[in-house]
Formats: sequence, structure tokens, C-alpha cells
Amino acid sequence: MKKLTTKKKVALTALTLMAPGIIIISSSYTDVSHPVEAKQIITSNTTNPVKKKLPNIKILATGGTIAGTGSTSAQTTGYKAGVLTPDQLIEAVPGLKDVANISTEQVANIDSGTSNTDALMVKLAKEVHKALDDPECDGVVITHGTDTMEETAYFLNLTVHSDKPIVLVGAMRPSTSLSADGPLNLYNAVILAGSKEAHDKGVMISMNGKIGSARDTFKTNTTDVDAFGNPELGSLGYIQGGKPYFYNVPTKKHTTESDFDIRKITEDNLHRVDIVYSHADDDRVMVDAAVAAGAKGIIHAGTGNGSINEKTLPGLQDAVKKGVVVVRDTRVPEGMVTHEQTDEDNHFVNSGNINPQKARILLMLVLTKTEDPNKIQEYFNEY
Ligand code: ASP
Repeated sequence: MKKLTTKKKVALTALTLMAPGIIIISSSYTDVSHPVEAKQIITSNTTNPVKKKLPNIKILATGGTIAGTGSTSAQTTGYKAGVLTPDQLIEAVPGLKDVANISTEQVANIDSGTSNTDALMVKLAKEVHKALDDPECDGVVITHGTDTMEETAYFLNLTVHSDKPIVLVGAMRPSTSLSADGPLNLYNAVILAGSKEAHDKGVMISMNGKIGSARDTFKTNTTDVDAFGNPELGSLGYIQGGKPYFYNVPTKKHTTESDFDIRKITEDNLHRVDIVYSHADDDRVMVDAAVAAGAKGIIHAGTGNGSINEKTLPGLQDAVKKGVVVVRDTRVPEGMVTHEQTDEDNHFVNSGNINPQKARILLMLVLTKTEDPNKIQEYFNEY
């Protein structure tokens, strides 16, 4: 990367001071031990005094409600997600430039509930890897829709090899709403991504003042601002008053220890994996449809401890005979699916305590390595 010479730094700083309302250079020009280039030019109405060393944070924007707009300030549903640019997002957060040198990139601008894809997750993971590979980059924040945030977060957790902080953030209210939650969520996410304490914690979800691990955190509410967590296992910690507080650490393999590596993964490596949701009076129709559609894996979201309806079981047994991997998961949000005799008898894999949508991500990645159910079970135990 090209560094600014002292002369240019002085000139830029002077320009900043002389021309309020035109440019802000968010950098620590006086710190020669950590020279920073002008990463991002942000329009602003204030001057930016020379600051001490700040972390360099890259924001990768993908859309969602945090970048959404409604027609009135009271509109909190039915708005359009994925409208604002990353620069518009950061302009709405007073004080953000005082806590980090921000650079931005728009990777997508979508509603993650309707338009997220495995291909986009691959693309995003490669961008995250590229950003963190730069020694000047201290952490990455990904602005994302909340509907499928937990899936993207887990995908990154399993594929990006870096111990630098990777933080996903979104909002439950659009940017135009009264009491929009996006600005504070984004501020907290940048604080977290720039903090030393956040290193080697795996990918994190930062919403509503809480820090959640990518593996365990899921969306728990359709409309409330307090919409993410793991009611049973809790969170990693909190962000309060511009400071992160950690109380827990992830225990399962992630990022630097992961066997999956985004540098070796393309969207073409990933097989189709479908989720089949069980219910009273269920049958094999959806299982057969998944197999007919070419699924290489099926996550069965069973009742209770991964129970399978007697009319569905033959469908899953036939699927296994055709080389499809079947994972027994549950539609119940808490507790685990334990290893049972039916797994031995039918070569099924039990999911442990990850939910079906996360099990789909893990199985897609595991299928790039092996199709052996015993080995797949080991991956599910470790991750
Ligand atoms: N449908 C939106 C999305 O996932 C919801 C949100 O961001 O809260 O993009």
C-alpha cells in the first residue's frame, strides 16, 4: 500500500482544517510508527483534528434493513431493505470517525431474507479474507440483513483464516425509522472490530449491545430490536459505553483452526443441501423432492430430539442408499440432538446443538471433504 509522505500528510491535514464541509481524512497522521493512508474520503460538515492512532476498519456492505428506507418515520415493516450506500451508513453515525479509520466497499445491496445465496457467501468470504490479508487492516465489519445473518456469519466462521475481528451487524428498523437501531449497532460493531479483546473469538454478531458467536447466535425475534441471541448458551459479552466486555469464548473450531479455507472454495465446489421440516402427519414427499432436485445432503429438522415420522423414515433411508447424506436435526430451538441407535442403523449423522440452517452450511462445507457419514459425524462433533 502507498503511504503518505509527511509533507502530504501535513498538506492534507491543512486542507481538512481549511475546508470544513468538504473532506475528512480519518487518519492518525502524527503516528509515524503506524502510518495510515487516506482510506476513505467522507463528506462531512466538521473538521477532523489530528488524532492518535486508530484502528483501520474495513466495512463490507451487503444491504439489509440497516441500509433500508421506509416512506415515513413510523414505518418499521414493509420498508425497502438494501438501499443506502456504505458511505451514507457511516455518515449517519456521529463520532464513528473518532474511533476508527474507516474504508468501505459495497459487496452487494440486497434483502438477505429474499436474495442471499451461497455464491454471495463465497464472494463475501473471499472479500473478507482479502481485506484481512492486508497488514494495515485491523478488522472487518460486515453490514448485513438480519434474516440470514446467522448463516453468513457461520459460513465466514468456518472458512476465513484470520484471528483479526470479523463482525456482522444489522438493524431491525430501517434507517428512516424513529429510534432506528442501525447507527448505534454500527458504532458498536466498529468498536468491537477495532478492539484487541475481539481477536481470536471467531466471527461475531454484534446487535443490540450484545456480542454473539457466529456458531451459537441465531435470530430469535421477527421484529424486535433485541432479535439475536442464544437463550440457552448466552452471548460472548456486551458492548457498553463504547467498550467491549467479554465473559465467554467459543469452544468449537473456527477461523484459523478450521479445515475449510475460502482460498480453496468456489461456489461450484458446494453441493446442494436441503432442509426438510417435520410436522405431525409428515411423510416422505419433501424428502423425495429434495433427492429429485439433486440434493447431496438433507438436514431433517425433526421433532423433539430429532425424531423422524414413520412415514418419512423410508424416504430418508432410500436417500442414504442413493448416496445422500442425512443429518438429524431438530425444529426445537434449544437443546441438542443426541447420537442414537437410528444413526447407527441408517448411517445418519446427528447435528449436536446447531440449528438446521447452520447445519446446512456445515454440511455443504464438509461435503467438499468427504461423503463418509462417520467422518461427517466427526466434523459435526468438532464444529
Ligand atoms: N429482510 C431484511 C434482510 O434480511 C431484514 C433485516 O435486515 O432486518 O435483509
